Amino acid sequence: MHDVLIIGAGCVGSCVAYELSKYNLNVLLLDKENDVALGASRANTAIVHGGYDPDPNTLMGKYNVRGAKKCMELVETLDIEFRKTGSLVVAFNDKEMETVKQTYERGLANGCPNMEIWDAEQVHAHEPNISKDIIGALWVPESGVMNPWEFTISHVEVAVREGVDLELNQKVVDLIDQGDSWLVKTETDEFETKYVVNAAGVHSDEIHNLVAEPAYAIHPTRGQYYLLDRSQGEIVNSVIFPTPNEQTKGILVSPTIHFHTLVGPDAERIPDKEDTSTTRDGLDYIAGEATRCVPGLNFRTNIRNYAGVRANSDLNDFFVDFIARDILELGAIKSPGLTCSPVLAEEGVKMLKEKGLKLEEKSNWDGTRKVTRFKTLSPEDKQKALERNPKYGRVICRCEHITEGEIIDALERGMPVTSLDAVKRRCGTGMGRCQGGFCGPRIVEILARETGIDVEDVLQDKLGSYIITGRTKTNEKPEVTKS
Ligand SMILES: Cc1cc2nc3c(=O)[nH]c(=O)nc-3n(C[C@H](O)[C@H](O)[C@H](O)COP(=O)(O)OP(=O)(O)OC[C@H]3O[C@@H](n4cnc5c(N)ncnc54)[C@H](O)[C@@H]3O)c2cc1C
Repeated sequence: MHDVLIIGAGCVGSCVAYELSKYNLNVLLLDKENDVALGASRANTAIVHGGYDPDPNTLMGKYNVRGAKKCMELVETLDIEFRKTGSLVVAFNDKEMETVKQTYERGLANGCPNMEIWDAEQVHAHEPNISKDIIGALWVPESGVMNPWEFTISHVEVAVREGVDLELNQKVVDLIDQGDSWLVKTETDEFETKYVVNAAGVHSDEIHNLVAEPAYAIHPTRGQYYLLDRSQGEIVNSVIFPTPNEQTKGILVSPTIHFHTLVGPDAERIPDKEDTSTTRDGLDYIAGEATRCVPGLNFRTNIRNYAGVRANSDLNDFFVDFIARDILELGAIKSPGLTCSPVLAEEGVKMLKEKGLKLEEKSNWDGTRKVTRFKTLSPEDKQKALERNPKYGRVICRCEHITEGEIIDALERGMPVTSLDAVKRRCGTGMGRCQGGFCGPRIVEILARETGIDVEDVLQDKLGSYIITGRTKTNEKPEVTKS
């Protein structure tokens, strides 16, 4: 029997697993997909928000600044890619400048530090490519961009190393009350546990409704993006937001950790929670809005479009509460959920303790992680790395300069890795101009060789996304019939 079973390995469930791995507990993390971080935690804007945006009377407002601070600590502890870029909320007219000033006041109420109101001259000195029509902006230095995949994966890698069990391809379909424990039923298995944490993202309301009266409804809201290549990588230095309105933070232009430029997202209510397709109309709208702020954007440099689905709800806040005996819900986690996820985990564990979960600290817990990124090393450190493992000398992804040694390291960090995209999320392969066209086949070979799976079973991404359907050439000699 498990002490705690966590449903959902997005950033929230993964942070909870990491927090709980500090204690002598039997913890199980479940996800319906074949990897972690395949929900909203995979497809978002990747901003560690400064904390000026949410209403101070919401949990989002209370947790944002604390979450941003915690994220800054965690990028060091877990060696997560991060750039402290700062962000600007720009105004085009007096009415928008009023909103910018109100946003500043809200930021103060939330405890967002070091903000400044800039005039047009200050903005253009910092961002020469911004529209000449803007009249001022809010400058928020304490925000940045991080690798959201690595954020989630690193938490799980450490949690697993520290004893948490991880089960993938396990979709929870029912929760049965057994009096003093819960039976968690998935499509294929059953697990017994004392406590449950519902961190099922956009599906958290469905898990909720299995054991409690409905408290809110999720309205899945899709956001689409352009990812422009490095020729546009320096068009902005910080994250550029237009002035927000009631519905949305608006279409932003943002640098990425890999020095590309990200443009988006729109906000479209959709019926299907899993619909991450992109549309011509959505992308055209994004391009039009973004060009208003940054006129020089060149959308011909686009290397990828993608979309994520927000867990927006009629609460307009996170839902954090016990929904039944010993079932804690961290649900409806919309933006700034990535930024707030470490705080949601800390608060969640505190609430479990108040409900009687015994937290006995491990004496030898190690919450750190270190990754070799060969291209970032000094010549001396490259030499040392090569002596340790000559496979750092074989470049597999030429666009991003990722070596075979780094791919093998990722496969050896304790989690199952079965797809090209899972390698991409761990190492950054396929993130460049060719989007995996050249390195893909070589990574298929490495994955098959290192994990023992057949090349034909290596996937592109989720279950069923086969790449190879059969062999066209074999080494078998043709049969010769003697006359
Ligand atoms: C377009 C967009 C832009 C955003 N931008 C930002 C940003 O810049 N900064 C920021 O701070 N936040 C941002 N967010 C918000 C942030 O991404 C989310 O709040 C956060 O990722 C939510 O994490 P989660 O763990 O709750 O959900 P998810 O990441 O969706 O994880 C939930 C997990 O539960 C699993 N699951 C669901 N149902 C079941 C089931 N029945 N059984 C087993 N497993 C199940 C899913 O497979 C999934 O892995 C953005 C979100 C979107 C969509």
